[in-house]
Amino acid sequence: MHFTTLASGSSGNSILIGEENRHFLVDCGISGKSLLHNLSQVNIACSEIEGIVVTHEHIDHIRGVGILARKLKIPVYATPGLWQVMSHSLGKLADHQRIEVQEGFSCAGLNVLLYPTSHDSRESYGLKISRPKQKDKQELAVGIATDSGMITQGMHKHLQGCDALVVEANYDEYRLLNGPYPAYLKKRIRGNYGHLENKQLAEGLLEWVKDNTQRVVLAHLSEENNTPEIALSTVLSILKGSKRTKEHSNLQVHVAPRHSPHELIRLME
Ligand SMILES: [Zn+2]
Ligand SMILES: [Zn+2]
Repeated sequence: MHFTTLASGSSGNSILIGEENRHFLVDCGISGKSLLHNLSQVNIACSEIEGIVVTHEHIDHIRGVGILARKLKIPVYATPGLWQVMSHSLGKLADHQRIEVQEGFSCAGLNVLLYPTSHDSRESYGLKISRPKQKDKQELAVGIATDSGMITQGMHKHLQGCDALVVEANYDEYRLLNGPYPAYLKKRIRGNYGHLENKQLAEGLLEWVKDNTQRVVLAHLSEENNTPEIALSTVLSILKGSKRTKEHSNLQVHVAPRHSPHELIRLME
């Protein structure tokens, strides 16, 4: 099983996930053209993309969804509530490209589970994507959660013990409070329906990271209120300071680049 971020942050988000030559995207918040360019940088053929799963209707998650779905002739998976609010933004899609999903479904041969995050959109979801246990292959799971103002029960339940995590480290509290944003925006970001702060996320990771966890990718970093260095050092110092995660020497923590793809991460079997 493999995954990577193709773009990450308020200018656009997309995550690729798959196994062997079957993959799907979680969100496409950059233009179709940029997405195809970024896919080629990680050597994934666009003909191998089997669908796009949408987490919520904000433009940094759906900007390129319609155009890419039409270009690649692939379906878009979203809940009925999200379809109601985003249909007009996606443009014309054939009926078979509009897939209404509930909490669990399958995409590109992998099991996808949606659970609620806490965000100021109509609905918003995190995902747990897993490869079912097969004869000669163990179960593997990748947990994804961005765009949440707080750690939700769903995050606690489904991110625990994943083999890899792509999770939001949006802002550093000191930088946000002392930065240029107007008061209402600071309030929105810090609120329960905004975004996750570096230390908030790190506290979550203390619960979620287990012996089998190989990778954590910090995602959706704010350009103004965070830096890759601050996010990484905050998370690492909290993880390393904890008795619970001290022995996890196999764990690697990365930061998702804003405009370019992270290198493809292949999970060890
Ligand atoms: Zn959002
Ligand atoms: Zn977002």
